[in-house]
Amino acid sequence: MASASCFLYNDGEASFPVCLEKNVLRIVTYPHPALRYESRPVTQIDDALRSNVRQMFDLMYEARGIGLAANQVALPYRFFVMNLTADPDQKDEEHVFINPEIIKRHSSSEDEEGCLSFPGLYFKVRRAKRIKVRAFDINGNPIEIDAEDLVSRAIQHETDHLSGKLYIDQLGPLGHSPLAAKLRDFETKFRESQAAGEYPSDDEIRKQLDAL
Ligand code: ZN
Repeated sequence: MASASCFLYNDGEASFPVCLEKNVLRIVTYPHPALRYESRPVTQIDDALRSNVRQMFDLMYEARGIGLAANQVALPYRFFVMNLTADPDQKDEEHVFINPEIIKRHSSSEDEEGCLSFPGLYFKVRRAKRIKVRAFDINGNPIEIDAEDLVSRAIQHETDHLSGKLYIDQLGPLGHSPLAAKLRDFETKFRESQAAGEYPSDDEIRKQLDAL
């Protein structure tokens, strides 16, 4: 999401504002259309991508999350960041998965999941217990990982995001459950922020994502 960062510049005689276009990211919440967007593969690992990755880690830590997909900051590219410790000091636990592909799934398990695009919404989700995933790391090296339990769950959750899939898709009919009310709250809040001009219309957002 592009926005300008401005400061006052003084040339010795007078001060005047100077604005720089800077790509400032923020986490978008349901039902922002980026969360339903089928993202495109990353074709180049460059400074722009590295800057986005750094910002995404920072946003993730701020929100106390363990994973964040590009769709969640309205970037239509297939990559996500993960640090299962959620601890910004544990940099060696930071992992970036670029163009991830889950190539094997074994057995299944159910556990509680949350999502930074649905703050405060937790429920049990069934996932493959063990997976094999292929991806590229931030240096462009191919990686292949056998993951299980929490690592496996987080990778599946984040990889789903890149195809516009959400953990709420696993819920059955909600009827009048508290979860249904919570989802309506997210919907109302997002439509209000659109009405207030904080976000463009859904169509406009989709056009922007196509153009990125
Ligand atoms: Zn999520």
